[in-house]
Amino acid sequence: MKTFDILARLVVALCIVMSPGLFAQDNGDGLQIYWIDVEGGSATLLVTPAGEAVLMDAGWNREDQRDARRIEAAMADAGAADIDYFIASHFHGDHVGGTPAIAQRVSIGQFLDHGDSVESETERGRPAWEAYLSAAQEKRRTVRPGDTVNLTGVEFTIVVSDREIIEGGTGTNPHCGGPMAPEDFGENSRSIGYRVTVGEFEFLDLGDITVDIQQAAACPINRLGVVDLIQVPHHAQGVAAELLWALEPTVAVSNNGATKGGRADDLAVVQGIPGLDGFWQVHHATASSAGLNAPPQMTANLTEDNDQGHWIKATVDADGTNYTIINGRNGYSQTYATK
Ligand SMILES: [Zn+2]
Repeated sequence: MKTFDILARLVVALCIVMSPGLFAQDNGDGLQIYWIDVEGGSATLLVTPAGEAVLMDAGWNREDQRDARRIEAAMADAGAADIDYFIASHFHGDHVGGTPAIAQRVSIGQFLDHGDSVESETERGRPAWEAYLSAAQEKRRTVRPGDTVNLTGVEFTIVVSDREIIEGGTGTNPHCGGPMAPEDFGENSRSIGYRVTVGEFEFLDLGDITVDIQQAAACPINRLGVVDLIQVPHHAQGVAAELLWALEPTVAVSNNGATKGGRADDLAVVQGIPGLDGFWQVHHATASSAGLNAPPQMTANLTEDNDQGHWIKATVDADGTNYTIINGRNGYSQTYATK
């Protein structure tokens, strides 16, 4: 090898070692996932071992910026200063109402969405759509199933967007055959959903996709495979057994509020998942029975809405072999083996 080549390689090696993006300080964790309590809305934060942050949804629009403050607290806990990617699952106030507040408080690299709101002219939809546009401006990127988000050490794939579903799966799903839900063309149905993979570990977050889209993803062939960890779709107020039971998650986390989501029928579907080993909730759902809710030690918030805003957190081993769920209120945790 010529001296010049050796020198060139040394320079490249030094650049890699010194690059802060690639080798940010190791905080001892692998991928971290936070279900931030935005009181029945949604804000799910992923922070990679390299310190990259992906936030899907930012809770409600409030004068006191409560939800943005709670997101910032989770970011600080995870050691993330900026948000690399903000994903708007869809354009409802419980998901994107808080977007201007978080965009005001921290720097956001790119805004991913399913395309323009289909409810921009409705009384409910217009403020949410305008809030998102005011924050995203020229940094928007519309994503489709199969698109990926560039992260270090983590595979991140969009699996649903704007009622389209990623291809995949084999064999007929035995949980299909029951009545199919009527088609829904509103904003919920158009939610973005993604899959995150670390080694063999898989996490799925499908936003608020409606029962018809969940069934289309599951029947007759389950296109989404099996996963380890799932965020219960639509705050547990419209979940399809055909999909949840076929995904066979070991652990499910529901981001229902005290009075929003967490419906008894839907919690029963979650509790009926074959092989489910842990069910965790951001909030106790007050209208559903204790038996359908998660046990208190696995529930972040036991009181009414607008409480202290404790999170549920997951940490995934760097190689994806195990993952731990932690209750931010009491520190109670459980470690699970990846399938
Ligand atoms: Zn929602």
